[in-house]
Amino acid sequence: MISLQEFLDVSPTSFHVVNSASHELEQVGYASQTYKDAGGSHFAKDKGVVTRGGALIAWHWPQEITTPEGVLIFGAHSDSPGLHLKPNSTSTTLGWSQLNVEIYGGVLLNSWLDRDLGVAGLLYFADGKCKLISIDEPIARIPQLAIHLDREISEKGLMLHRQNHMKPIWGTNTSLLFTQWLCEKCEVSPSLLTGFELQLFDTQKSVVLGAMGEFLVSGRLDNQVSCWAVVKSLIENTQPTQPTLVALFDHEEVGSQSINGAAGPLLEHVLGELLHERKASQSFAAIAKKSVMVSADNSHAIHPNYLEKHDQQHAPMVNLGPVIKRNANQRYATNGEIASRVVDAARRANIPTQDFVANNAMPCGSTIGPMSATRLGIDTIDVGVPQLSMHSVREMCGTKDPDYLVDLFNLLGSTDF
Ligand code: ZN
Repeated sequence: MISLQEFLDVSPTSFHVVNSASHELEQVGYASQTYKDAGGSHFAKDKGVVTRGGALIAWHWPQEITTPEGVLIFGAHSDSPGLHLKPNSTSTTLGWSQLNVEIYGGVLLNSWLDRDLGVAGLLYFADGKCKLISIDEPIARIPQLAIHLDREISEKGLMLHRQNHMKPIWGTNTSLLFTQWLCEKCEVSPSLLTGFELQLFDTQKSVVLGAMGEFLVSGRLDNQVSCWAVVKSLIENTQPTQPTLVALFDHEEVGSQSINGAAGPLLEHVLGELLHERKASQSFAAIAKKSVMVSADNSHAIHPNYLEKHDQQHAPMVNLGPVIKRNANQRYATNGEIASRVVDAARRANIPTQDFVANNAMPCGSTIGPMSATRLGIDTIDVGVPQLSMHSVREMCGTKDPDYLVDLFNLLGSTDF
């Protein structure tokens, strides 16, 4: 399995996350198919993967287990907030060439200013084919207004208009369409191009920093750390005690309500096909009630400059282990009994864990756990590494926590916890 930093550096979009994950799984014997093309014989395989857009379901389910007690599912989301290109991508203003972008999810807009941006995603062609691309060199930038022209910034803060102020500049040749430039760069014919799903991304690679190398800094730590950890654990756990699945869902940052999101039917359909091919005698409901879902997504670490934003008795710190996220209002799906079993197993294996509960005066985030738990009726725990700068173009977590997360997942996958 590639390192976390390599995974982050080659995965600028959810499509690339799925591509990177399925490639790693193929390397160790998992058969990969698009969901559309996968027939019964594919789902009969002990180790398989199906992909659809930015979503992926992988399983390790030996065929002889026809009557499983339950299944263990590790879930994470593959998408991150960002700037997506609109179909009519080029605009020109007084000699500047700019890009028309759509804001995806809860972007910290200020963090995208003065960054050197590349473009990545999918190109679609008239022959029905598509091509995954990543222009890894800086081609665009959203310049912040000079302080001389924004004298109120110190008193009133930075105000950014989502339509007017977030348009990147990418050139001065106003007769050139962005798609023409892109086709030339990617060596494809503009006449065959029928559409695209492209995003901008920060071309700066991940780095380790801090006096003792304590911190990992990168784009998209939320939630590619979890995607990497669940895939790595599936690969390392070669003898699971029960059928084990990994589900990477897209569109969590916009509410998960899509066919490839956690609120959609993808996981349920794949589980149905896996049971059908194994001629399982139990119903899906009978298996669901004994199954466990581990929903992996990053948590807020306590921010030393904003202590008042946290509940200081439930304030995770970086490098002190995975965070179990709880919310009485069910913004997290953590179930008391499952959390107790996980804490007990982790304690016995000397894997540290921490607790997060939001400050009551603050809104609480959410994740895929409540979506898939409600849909499937499977007991769930929400867990993830603590981080700062969540939803910034460049986020920060501890260097030890991703490995603790893999250790925890390996433990849960290889023992009857
Ligand atoms: Zn997340």
